[in-house]
Amino acid sequence: MTDKPEITIFWFRRDLRLTDNAALYHALKNNNNVLPIFIFDKNILNQLENKQDKRIQFIHNALKEINKKLLALNSSLLIANDTPLNTFKQLVEQYTIKNVYTNTDYEPYAINRDNEIQAFLSEKKIPFFQCKDQVIFEKNEVVKADGSPYLIFTPYMRVWKNKLTDFYVKPYPCEKYSAHLFKASPFNFPELKEIGFEPPNSNLNFPSPEVNLELIKNYDQQRNFPAIRGTSHLSVHLRFGTISIRQLVKKTQVLNDQWLNELIWREFYMMILFHFPHVVKNAFKKNYDLIKWRNNENEFKAWCKGETGYPIVDAGMRELNATGFMHNRVRMITASFLVKHLLIDWRWGEAYFAEKLLDFDLSANNGGWQWAASSGCDAAPYFRIFNPYEQTKRFDANFEYIKKWVPEFQELTYVKPIVEHKFARERVLATYKKALTKA
Ligand code: FAD
Repeated sequence: MTDKPEITIFWFRRDLRLTDNAALYHALKNNNNVLPIFIFDKNILNQLENKQDKRIQFIHNALKEINKKLLALNSSLLIANDTPLNTFKQLVEQYTIKNVYTNTDYEPYAINRDNEIQAFLSEKKIPFFQCKDQVIFEKNEVVKADGSPYLIFTPYMRVWKNKLTDFYVKPYPCEKYSAHLFKASPFNFPELKEIGFEPPNSNLNFPSPEVNLELIKNYDQQRNFPAIRGTSHLSVHLRFGTISIRQLVKKTQVLNDQWLNELIWREFYMMILFHFPHVVKNAFKKNYDLIKWRNNENEFKAWCKGETGYPIVDAGMRELNATGFMHNRVRMITASFLVKHLLIDWRWGEAYFAEKLLDFDLSANNGGWQWAASSGCDAAPYFRIFNPYEQTKRFDANFEYIKKWVPEFQELTYVKPIVEHKFARERVLATYKKALTKA
């Protein structure tokens, strides 16, 4: 006989909510004494140089909310600050673990991590269940008739929409089984300091997780204008699972077709990353790796700081630096500018966005950057070079967005353009052509 408590573990990752959570539901429905855990993964955290990273604060806040609700149910969240493998090694010492449940994560690091945990648990004869939660359709659920993944968005989107039925957006009523949570006296809830972080300096104003249905109804009309609040700002919540994609689709699917398309782009890029993990390091279209980047470090610094002399580009970068957010239209313009006007490797820009974006998501960020560089699947053709002045005329004609972030843009003190548009356009066309005809 052992006096170790017998439990089932539910492991939170990018699904930080207690409602409509697939793996939590299955864990609770099928087991007693379900202990929810979260691991501040040292493998990830040690790589974050900024110890005031806003995303850690966001996660910390979300965990606090979860813990508050668990305490009200006489349970508690167990938070570890270690690598996942070490954490599970310790947990098997302290508990008799019947099962472990978690939601599937499709990124390469996560897949390796989960394989490692699966191998460890299977040695101990502990079943490890992974459920679909962060997407409506995963892996091979939306593929071509021959079973291969789609490389073009439009047919993928059509099949995705045709396949969508109420079944796929049915909520998982976790609350029904909350009596199956492990009853524990409260575990230590670590302050940020205990995990090596501090609260961010700047005022934190995280977007609300509330879905604005009026905004979504007008989404296609308003989504392209960075000066107005025409997009949902739900990306950080979708990233960390503080809202459920099923509930979101269920509530909004008939309101605006363009809106639904954006949620499908999210899954399209996740699917691309899952099937083609080489995109993390390389161009999706391999011949685009032959492009000779200029990679001028001073120009890169100017871009990062929002000092290129192109007001719309500078506004975007300053918005990113100040808030951790950038409007999608401006993400496209700033990314295109770095890659095409300055001929700087898209991976440099991708890494900078990854460091700064509150909603950073490997698949969407990589997809966005490879789209801008024309190296991705279904990307902008290489000869499409955004003209920042034309983009401004179309999407910020009264300079409202620009004035907010670059108030000096009409003054003599404003920096001169880092490169002349027409010259940059010809240069990038010649450079791409040379690389691509070599291939
Ligand atoms: P909305 O316009 O309200 O869209 C609703 C949701 O749909 C978003 O929250 C997001 O989850 C999804 N979505 C919208 N557009 C896209 C898209 N093009 N690709 C994938 N999903 C999309 N999005 C991220 O979530 N994380 C990133 O790291 C990221 N990096 C990007 C980098 C570049 C270079 C580009 C061009 C785009 C990137 N995007 C990224 C996509 C898009 O810009 C953001 O999702 C969007 O701006 C977030 O604002 P929102 O929540 O108001 O979006």
